[in-house]
This record gives sequence, C-alpha cells and structure tokens, in this order.
Amino acid sequence: KRLDGKTCIVTGGGNGIGKATCLRLADEGARVAVTDIDEGDAKSVCKEITAQGGTADSWPLDVADADTVRQVFDAAADRFGQIDVVVNNAGISGVNRPTHEISEEEWRKVIDINVNGVFYCTKAAIPHLKKANGGSIVNLSSIYGLVGAPDLPPYHASKGAVRLMSKTDALLYAREGIRVNSVHPGFIWTPLVEGLAKSSEEGVEAFRKGLDDLHPIGHVGEPEDIAAGIAYLASDDAKFVTGSELVIDGGYTAR
Ligand code: NAD
Repeated sequence: KRLDGKTCIVTGGGNGIGKATCLRLADEGARVAVTDIDEGDAKSVCKEITAQGGTADSWPLDVADADTVRQVFDAAADRFGQIDVVVNNAGISGVNRPTHEISEEEWRKVIDINVNGVFYCTKAAIPHLKKANGGSIVNLSSIYGLVGAPDLPPYHASKGAVRLMSKTDALLYAREGIRVNSVHPGFIWTPLVEGLAKSSEEGVEAFRKGLDDLHPIGHVGEPEDIAAGIAYLASDDAKFVTGSELVIDGGYTAR
C-alpha cells in the first residue's frame, strides 16, 4: 500500500476532516497517531482503525499548548519509532461578527489554535522528520486562505497565514526531503460547518442550500474528498510536490 511503513500524526483527528483523514491514512497502510483536544473522540477514531485491522494510538492534545504538543509528538515517535507525516488539521471557525465587534480575546483564540498551533506542531515535528530523512507536512488552510468573504474575520486571517507558513517551510526544508503543502477545502459538511449552520438566522436546511449554491459543482464537499487529497500529499506520489496549494473546492475559487 501507498503508506506502508509510514507513521502519520493528525491533529484534530476526532471529527470531520481529521477523522476521515485518520481513517484514510490507516487504510493506505500508515500507522496513525490520532490526536484531538477531545480525548474521547480521538479514542473512538483509534478504535475504529484498529477494528478494521489498522494500527493506531490516540493522545489528547490541544495544539495551542506548546509544551503538550512537544510531549505528544515525542510520545508518538517513541510509540511508533518515527514520524513521517504530519497533518496540521485542528482548527476552529471562531466568532462570526464584523471585525469592529470582535474582542481581542476572541481574535487571539482563533490565531492561537489555527496559526500558533501549526507553528508549535511543525516545530515539534521537524527534528523527527529530519531523523526519518524527510517527510511530508500537510497544513489545512481553506478557500478562505485564498479569497475573501464578508464573514469570519479572524478565520480568514488565520488561513491566509497558514498558506504562506506552508510555503516558507517548504523552502526552508526542501533540501532535507521535508515537503510542506497546504490544502484548501471548499465548504465541507462537518461539525464545524454544522455549527455555523445552527447559529445562522435562516436555519440549517436553508444555510446548507445556500452553501451548496456557492460551489459550481452544485453541493458542498464530504470529509473524504479532503482526506483523499491529504493522503496523496502524504505519499510518495507527491514526491515532487512542495510549497503547493491543493484546492479541493468544487470550483468555488475558479470564478
Ligand atoms: P471540525 O470542527 O468538524 O473538527 C475539528 C476537530 O478539531 C474536532 O475534533 C475538535 O475537537 C478538534 N479541535 C478543536 N480545537 C482543537 C485544539 N485546540 N487542539 C486540537 N484539536 C482541536 O472541523 P473540520 O470542519 O473537520 O475542519 C478541520 C480543518 O479543516 C480546520 O483547520 C478547518 O479550518 C479546515 N477547513 C474546514 C472546512 C469545512 O468546510 N469544514 C473548509 C476549509 C477548511
């Protein structure tokens, strides 16, 4: 299989895109370190993988906590012998209000998780990837890291940052065999987007229909659509791919 012998660590692996990614990576032969701020969700994904004959272990991890990030990355490397692939997936949508109505604390929370979390995990991972003579880092940005929209100001800021952090790290570590790419999903029906739908004024069904219509393909995506792209970037099929942006958005940004 494409990821036989590889160890992958996924943040926010308990739900949505992260969960689909853990399952897909395991299905492709990888050993998977499932991490999530919600320990129960991480455990249950881990159980699902092992029930299907795969290899996985789980750790509770808040990516905004640099010390714990280091400890968990070291523990995962100890447990599986190495780390080859890092999927920086954990992220929150944050507050959905106009910029001038957002508190400094609300702004900082999104940056702490979506931006600083990627930094802490990348920093913790690099020594392990170097030890493995290379590897792949996949960072979850968004269509909101490529184009604007009149909503979620701190989220846009965070995903724009992740897009360029990926390119800088791609350049810094290219000669060491460490590839770094960003993935840019359109709207994917996950607990994150369901949360936005529930807090919308128009109701969940109308909100979903509105989202469907934003995508030229006619509907929102599924977590598995993104997991497939992540598995490609993780694998040696993408051995010449670094510093790139994989847009998986049903045509959202094509217009
Ligand atoms: P989700 O909310 O469905 O799942 C996110 C997971 O991350 C949850 O299991 C949650 O417990 C975990 N998490 C939250 N805060 C954390 C923290 N501080 N540390 C560790 N784990 C934490 O989200 P999703 O829709 O699957 O999104 C995953 C990633 O994809 C995010 O980075 C998101 O910004 C990005 N993305 C999502 C969409 C979409 O439409 N769903 C579109 C573009 C990009």
